[in-house]
Amino acid sequence: MPSPLTHDRPARILVVDDDRTFILVVRKALEKADFIVTTCSSGEEALEVFSDCEPDLVLLDIQLPGIDGTEVCRELRRRMDDMSLPILLVTAGGDREAISRGYEAGATDFLAKPIDFELFAHRAHYLVKASRAMSELRYNRASLATAQRIARLGSYTYEVETRRMQWSNEIYSIFGIDAEGEETSRERFEAFVHPDDRGRVQQALDEVDRREKNFAIEHRLLLSSGDVRHVRHHAENIDDGRGHRIVTGVVQDTTDHARAMDQIRYLANFDGLTGLTNRRQFKSRLVDTLRHASNGDNLVAIMMVDVDRFRVINETLGHTAGDQILQVVADRVTGLVRNSDSVSRLEQSDFEPEIARIGGDEFTLLLPRIAHPTDAGRVAQRILESIPEPIDVDGQRVTLRASVGISIYPLDDVDAETLLRHADRAMKHAKGHGGNSFQYYTESLNETSLRRLQLESRLRDAVRNERLHLNYQPKVDLETGEVRGMEALLRWIDPELGFVSPDEFIPLAEEIGLISEIGRWVIAEACSQNKAWQDAGLRSVPVAVNVSSRQFRDSDLYHDVTEALATTGLDPRHLEIEVTESAMVDDERSTTDLLSRFRELGIRVALDDFGTGFSSLSYLRRLPLDTLKVDRAFVMDLPGDNDAEGIVGAIITMAHVLGLRVIAEGVETEEQRTFLRDISCDEMQGYLFSKPVSSEDFAAFLEPASS
Ligand code: C2E
Ligand code: MG
Ligand code: MG
Repeated sequence: MPSPLTHDRPARILVVDDDRTFILVVRKALEKADFIVTTCSSGEEALEVFSDCEPDLVLLDIQLPGIDGTEVCRELRRRMDDMSLPILLVTAGGDREAISRGYEAGATDFLAKPIDFELFAHRAHYLVKASRAMSELRYNRASLATAQRIARLGSYTYEVETRRMQWSNEIYSIFGIDAEGEETSRERFEAFVHPDDRGRVQQALDEVDRREKNFAIEHRLLLSSGDVRHVRHHAENIDDGRGHRIVTGVVQDTTDHARAMDQIRYLANFDGLTGLTNRRQFKSRLVDTLRHASNGDNLVAIMMVDVDRFRVINETLGHTAGDQILQVVADRVTGLVRNSDSVSRLEQSDFEPEIARIGGDEFTLLLPRIAHPTDAGRVAQRILESIPEPIDVDGQRVTLRASVGISIYPLDDVDAETLLRHADRAMKHAKGHGGNSFQYYTESLNETSLRRLQLESRLRDAVRNERLHLNYQPKVDLETGEVRGMEALLRWIDPELGFVSPDEFIPLAEEIGLISEIGRWVIAEACSQNKAWQDAGLRSVPVAVNVSSRQFRDSDLYHDVTEALATTGLDPRHLEIEVTESAMVDDERSTTDLLSRFRELGIRVALDDFGTGFSSLSYLRRLPLDTLKVDRAFVMDLPGDNDAEGIVGAIITMAHVLGLRVIAEGVETEEQRTFLRDISCDEMQGYLFSKPVSSEDFAAFLEPASS
């Protein structure tokens, strides 16, 4: 049977008859009617020419010498897989038995001689047309099925009322099951939908059932093999033409497509060698980050990391080794940045640092949220420390160095492209200075940052090795000149840096999270020293310790204090806590509660540095306080400065109204003392009486009055 692709050619007829005259007449008549005619005089010959001739119709005499027409017909049908080729058997008489055998052998119809050829030509045209239409339909069906198989496109229909479904072969194949014995219902269908998507699909199908809306969604399937497949799923509610509502749907398996898309996305955004983000993705992340940062007050650091003399390594060891080395570098930088406590402390989950490889040996880093430029320097420092770890490549030991450039948003610029350029400039600058170092784009940051980094590492060292100690400064009664108290003040003398002021290292300790540990030690040490003096028979005078606002937030201050009291056996009335107003800012309520609990134990509470902070009257009223310390900034200008005199006078009056004692800080001159005493200040603390001194020296202030 000719394929539908040849259907526009003239129709061919194969005529098989041993009657020469008949053949002549048939040929003439049919050729006149535009058929192409092939003739044979025996069944054997017919079978031989059949495939070459590709007839559209066969006219076959039933009585032939040798194989008869019925047998030829049977053989032709056997050779073809479809019934659409018309085979007409020609009989001389009305032999009924021969006719029924002929049908059984696959004949399409019978013609009785004599034949009216004009009429037959019409009939033949019609038969060819019908058979061609049939084979075209078959062909289309087959190619549709093939297309659906290739596209992994299955279809189903179900009646809304019964929910009984019909699935196309491809649906079974997508579900990975055999069509055999499968009960096909909507429920059964839904069972193949991934449990996480099932609710959504059910809801969509329900809406189609109710004719609310058709859908086109994407969801997953979970097959019994455990495989997860992605499908695109369309369904519509239609009328079957006889008043029944039918839902018909198409399910296309897009898993491979989705995988390909993932792959494409990956290739577009990631570096194939290291798996890190590539330049493109980094840029877009940077732009996003900067847009976010413009609403906040945090800084963003952009860092450029470049392996020193990488080209030489690449050329001497070869590119494969070079690639291996870059992978190691990528792993080190990633591990460090992702695990570094200094980074993770600063970063919240949606502020993850980003690391990219943007060129041969160039890596960039984005720290989306830092508090201080030094945070970036600290990360750079760690990178520089981690890179020189020797790497083994092909039995060779390679030791690398790197240079890092840093630019900071918004200090250096606000534009992504410019910040990247600045970081690059800074990196080249670091390289120009011999490499193995980091540089900020802004020159001034290099020094401050270096100092801070140095301080930080020395301070950690000092805490670890217990190299901090306390000095004590007396608080003196302005009326009697008696020592009424003392303030414990931290001292740090570093073997390398020398004396470092608490004004410099306390804020740093707060920032790097060391203050809780330091504060705990200060409280314990001050309590223990005070108790030791008492045990040595010296006068009992309370000790005040400074407590940073961070300690209220980050540590269990109540526990630290009560434990120190319990361990040393110090009477709580001999402990005073100095807080600043900043402790109130974070959470006034819980701070107030905690201070009240301290006071219930008998511990005294002083408000330090009054006048420099918010100096809010309402704090004074609400806070559970015993003492107010007037900041040195006001005392300095006494007497003589009208403003300072007025302010200090007002503070003292107000404090006394609230039942608080007042201590003036930083009293350095006799005039200041006289003035303060005259306006009824209670105590003073300052160089006039004594600087903060060591515990050994302080003992002299505590000699019993009688001696
Ligand atoms: P502060 O609590 O206001 O301590 C008083 C500061 O004034 C001390 O400085 C003290 O040495 C200084 N001072 C006292 N009298 C005079 C004077 O007559 N003239 C001058 N110019 N200064 C005087 P220091 O010891 O340098 O401490 C500075 C700050 O560091 C303290 O201010 C306090 O806020 C903080 N600090 C000190 N030790 C600790 C501590 O153990 N824990 C905490 N959290 N902070 C502490
Ligand atoms: Mg103080
Ligand atoms: Mg103070």
